[in-house]
Amino acid sequence: MNLPPRLGRHTPVRPLWICRACAGPWPCSLARLLLKAEYWDRRADLPVQMTTVLYEAVADLHRLDPAAVDPAAMFNRFVGWTRRNHLGRIPDLSAQLAALDAELLRRLPD
Ligand SMILES: [Zn+2]
Repeated sequence: MNLPPRLGRHTPVRPLWICRACAGPWPCSLARLLLKAEYWDRRADLPVQMTTVLYEAVADLHRLDPAAVDPAAMFNRFVGWTRRNHLGRIPDLSAQLAALDAELLRRLPD
């Protein structure tokens, strides 16, 4: 995972995936805002980056408690929020993200 330095302390504490600064679920609202700012001029890259992060988070959280990993909730938490922007729409990557999501779930250990 390669997060931009602009996030400051709003980075995830692994394997719990809580914010180092806020202690809430990561990405916290400030981390989301900072990520949108970081990816402002290459918005299509943000959901791709966050899908990579999603894969790592699901692997970590699944190891801690498989029953606590809800794929739809995890997708919305890590990727879904990147798809809308009040200053413009990010290209619709739903088909690519659904394929990545299916691949992610296929790779999880039983
Ligand atoms: Zn935070």
